[in-house]
Amino acid sequence: MPELPDLLYVLSRLRERLLGRHVTAERVREPVVLRYTVRGNLSLLLGRPLAEAFRKSHFLVFRFEGLDLAVNPMLAGRFRLAAPGEPDEASLGFALGFDDVELRYLDDKRMGKAYLIATDDWKAIPGLQTGGLDLLSPEFSRERFVSLLKHRRDQVRVFLLDKKALDSLGNAYADEVLFEAGIHPKTFCRALSHDDAVRLHDAIVKVMKEAVEEVASRAEPIEVKVRDFLKVRLKETCPRCGAKIRTAGVRGMDAYFCPRCQPATRPGLVDWTRTGR
Ligand SMILES: [Zn+2]
Repeated sequence: MPELPDLLYVLSRLRERLLGRHVTAERVREPVVLRYTVRGNLSLLLGRPLAEAFRKSHFLVFRFEGLDLAVNPMLAGRFRLAAPGEPDEASLGFALGFDDVELRYLDDKRMGKAYLIATDDWKAIPGLQTGGLDLLSPEFSRERFVSLLKHRRDQVRVFLLDKKALDSLGNAYADEVLFEAGIHPKTFCRALSHDDAVRLHDAIVKVMKEAVEEVASRAEPIEVKVRDFLKVRLKETCPRCGAKIRTAGVRGMDAYFCPRCQPATRPGLVDWTRTGR
């Protein structure tokens, strides 16, 4: 799934390339991707200039006069800038042409959704109004985070991934944040001390800031997900202590963690430091 650093990077590149330009063509390859809450279809955008592009929760919103196209890439959605006439990808959902460049939305899993709505008609989009605390906003303070965490009864990694609480972390950065804070992914929220909670907040701020900078500095094409700089996600050994990175199932998702830097905090968890493996 595109995470916040990916979305910010994609957005900055799209703004640079497309703002102010008029839609000259449109194609829909996978109608299932599109939802219309206005009468008509994607051809409504023809002739309109792209006035603004911004992030709203985990959606990218393309603003045209009177209409917003809000895209939620879900698990596998990606954007790509192509030259018109380049062969279509098998995963092409739809495309908008802007003269000499085409914005393509690709989605291998066909799970993402694009909504064409009247300007600011957010209530027409399921799930958008329930967005949690924006991790990149000034409102994401230690106090707000600690008070959110205090009321949770679930495991810390489940909390971090809850988009109704936090906007937002996916699997990759949830692992990185817990590693940075030295907290085992299966720790219950209620077992975290005030200091743990503050450390976790600060880890989120640090990891996201560094990732935003790193992804931007790579300047890859927007369809490429830059992940090789991550410290534990999909890695073999811990960059800090050299221990073998382990995985634990948390709600059906694999969490990657270092058993030495993120020790088990309760009985019943595998203590990798004692197994000798
Ligand atoms: Zn380690």
